[in-house]
Amino acid sequence: MVSYKELGLVNTKEMFAKAIKGGYAIPAFNFNNMEQLQAIIKAAAETKSPVILQVSKGARNYANQTLLQYMAQGAVEYAKELGWEKPQICLHLDHGDSFETCKSCVDFGFSSVMIDGSHLPYEENIALTKKVVEYAHAHDVTVEAELGVLAGVEDEVCAAESHYTKPEEVVDFATRTGCDSLAISIGTSHGAYKFTREQCTVDPQTGKLVPPPLAFDILDAIMEQLPGFPIVLHGSSSVPQEYVDIINQYGGKLPDAVGIPEEQLRKASESTVCKINIDSDSRLAFTAAVRKVFAENPGEFDPRKYCGPARDLMTELYKHKIINVLGSNGKAE
Ligand SMILES: [Zn+2]
Repeated sequence: MVSYKELGLVNTKEMFAKAIKGGYAIPAFNFNNMEQLQAIIKAAAETKSPVILQVSKGARNYANQTLLQYMAQGAVEYAKELGWEKPQICLHLDHGDSFETCKSCVDFGFSSVMIDGSHLPYEENIALTKKVVEYAHAHDVTVEAELGVLAGVEDEVCAAESHYTKPEEVVDFATRTGCDSLAISIGTSHGAYKFTREQCTVDPQTGKLVPPPLAFDILDAIMEQLPGFPIVLHGSSSVPQEYVDIINQYGGKLPDAVGIPEEQLRKASESTVCKINIDSDSRLAFTAAVRKVFAENPGEFDPRKYCGPARDLMTELYKHKIINVLGSNGKAE
């Protein structure tokens, strides 16, 4: 049993309270490997932004949970080395699927966990979430829960269609579970193919797909029910077309990949939405950089020569998100 406090990590409580007051959102970036973690920490340290390192069940299986724990501990020390005196870094389990997974993360030094019971009947979601909250709170670990279903595919999480969160359920759910934040469904979606061609309109100028807008009316109704309560948006990558174009130019095949426009995420950041999850965008940046190196230098076989540029492009992406989309720069001086 390791407490996250010994690792120099923080939970989301203070981060979220400040973000809601200040009208910005905390970036939650997923990581699976060293280069991604380096890029996240470098971007957060250089912009002095609080940051949430997200680990999915798939990442735990890929990278090994013991190694991830030490990587997060190392990330705090690395941040200090970069001149960030008081790093505000949270280690968060993304889409915990059972009490056991959440408990093991709490015991392994995570400072925050998500229990995703959104696929369960309402009362079962409440019972499971409540059980996780009781265990986590006993260790001062914060808990994110989910109501409503997001469409799309993300590691093991997959749903064919979305169901918007019902605003009339949120007070009952938050009160009875005691969760610290709530992930809602208002039209964001997991993965790089968030919308079908049929759901989009086509920009006559560029011929690119324009996705349907987020359901801000539902967000407003939820905020009216739960004033000041931390709200989370999953599936909030923007799928930058410049990365998609590089990937396709150098032998990739990502037709019609489309994400959430950044203006809409910026607007959401100013509300009680205080955590925005971004995963696919960094996968696209990584892949674009690697494909470019391989296409231009077919003889290259030193992983540092293609993972290095991938890391640089991800750092640039994370800084852009922090400064231009979420507004969290300078909030963790
Ligand atoms: Zn998610």
